This record gives sequence, C-alpha cells and structure tokens, in this order.
Amino acid sequence: ISKNKEQLQQKVEEVVENNRHYAKLGNLASYIPVLTEADPTQVGLSIWTIKGESFNAGAYQTRFTIQSISKIITLILALLDNGRDAVFKKVGMEPSGKSYNAIESINCCNKPFNPMINAGAIAVTSMIKGDSPQIKFARIMNFFKKITKSDNLELDERVYLSEKRTGIRNRTLAYYMKEKNIIEGEVEAALDLYFRQCSILVTAKELASLGAILANDGVDYETKEQIVPAAIVKLVRALMVTCGLYNESGEFAVKVGLPAKSGVGGGMLAIVPGKFGIGTFGPALDANGNSITGLKILENLAQALDLSIL
Ligand code: GLN
Repeated sequence: ISKNKEQLQQKVEEVVENNRHYAKLGNLASYIPVLTEADPTQVGLSIWTIKGESFNAGAYQTRFTIQSISKIITLILALLDNGRDAVFKKVGMEPSGKSYNAIESINCCNKPFNPMINAGAIAVTSMIKGDSPQIKFARIMNFFKKITKSDNLELDERVYLSEKRTGIRNRTLAYYMKEKNIIEGEVEAALDLYFRQCSILVTAKELASLGAILANDGVDYETKEQIVPAAIVKLVRALMVTCGLYNESGEFAVKVGLPAKSGVGGGMLAIVPGKFGIGTFGPALDANGNSITGLKILENLAQALDLSIL
C-alpha cells in the first residue's frame, strides 16, 4: 500500500510538470477585469481519497475564486431547500451545446437549459432560502465551508466588485428570466448573491476535498456524517457529466469520462465515484472558458490510472 501511495504521489507530480507548458496556449478571463491579475503559468493538482489521504503537487495551496464550480454547491443547497420538483420546474436538465453565458440559454419551455450554465445557476441561486440577502449569503458561505471541510473560506471583495460592475451579460439573462417568471424575488438581489458565490476563494486542495465527499456519495470521509443525501449527489454528478464543461462536456466525456465542473478562475473539480476527488488549478483558459492545464492533467491522469466511469 505504501508503495502504491508513493507511486500515486509521483504520478501527481509528473502530470503537473508534464502539462505546465500548455498554459502558454490559454488566456486569462478578461471579461472580469481583476481576473487578469492572476499568474497564468501557475499549475496545481490535488487528490483526496475517500479514506482521507491527499496527494498534492504544484500550486495546490494557491487561492483563486471558485467561479462556476460554485454552481454545484448552490444547486445542492437549493435542492435541500426546495426539493427536486420545485427546482426543475424552473430549470432544465439538458446540455445547451452553447457557451456558459450564451444569449440562447433559455429553451423553448422558457427554462434555462441546465443549472451549470450562468442563466440556470442564477435562477437556482434565487431559490436559496433566507429572510434577508445577508442571511442567504451566510447560509451559502457556511454550506461551502462544511462541504469543503475548510473554515478559512472568504470572499475576494475585488473580484466580486469587478464582476458586479461589468456583468452585463448575466444581468441581461437574469432580467429576461425575471420576465419569464423564473427568478425568485428581486433580480439585482439574485445577481448580487450569484456574484458573491462566484468570488469565494478556494484552493485545489479544498476542491479535491469537496470532490471526495461527492465521490463518497455525500458522506464526510472523516466524520462519516451524511452531508448531502446520496440521491442529490447522483443527480449533481449526472449534470456534471452532461453539462459541467458547457459545450466541451461531450469531448471531456470522451477524453476523460468523469463528472467534472470548471470555473473561469482556473479551477476544475473532477469526481471518481467510490475513489477520490480531484482539484486542479491553472488560470489559463481555452476558448470555452475551461482551464487548459486542468483539462490536460485530467486527461493524463484518467488514462494513467484508468479512471473513466463510462
Ligand atoms: N462568475 C462567472 C460568470 O458568471 C462564472 C463563469 C464561469 O466560471 N464559467 O460569468
């Protein structure tokens, strides 16, 4: 077993080094101005097993904003708050085949295609319960801390304000959805909550820990507490496979074959059910807004360790 552990640690270090050079081919997300301040050459990888062991390399402790990976956490919270029927009355379950912020994000039934694209995620966030915006955000933050097993999470105020100032597309999608009766409550309040959830700082290691809980059917791998009901974990993992990387989800299923979610902060989360969670960090993005080094690292790891579930 210790020989296996040594080999896994070696593999983790190897895939980070072998894929570093791909960062040159990507670009930082510039539509959120503060995100262009990141160092695009950074690469990090972390694996957490459901036995609670971790294997790490590179910039695995560097903090970055979670961005769209937050969508799976708020989806879980909204499902716990409202139940599956109420949530999917307003949001679909089908891949959109379009970019995460496409104007064509609303399907012919007047629903956003799925909870992984921006429109769907903003609608989901508007369903989170709480008597005031402050209470809603505190509930989101506390749930993020619980599910990542990290007390250190905080908001990156500058990234939050940067997106709040420039998020015209998200505002457009949200106002359109309000007209179609998809957004609960005030539009600006829903957008503000969404911009905040996207600006929570995490590390690749914290993403891997969250992934381990989702790999473990919702059970905290240390305390054995059922943090998320297994049925919700299954639903979320299915949406990650079909929609997690937007219009690149199909290619990712072919090349990697794991539930995954990306964010324009450069993070990527992948789940190997029954085995481990994987977190990667590399802020240089491809044309679809997915981390270039993250994609390459996951492709190499999945091949080397035979991880595909498909
Ligand atoms: N906050 C970002 C946005 O709404 C999240 C997008 C992403 O990570 N793909 O545009």
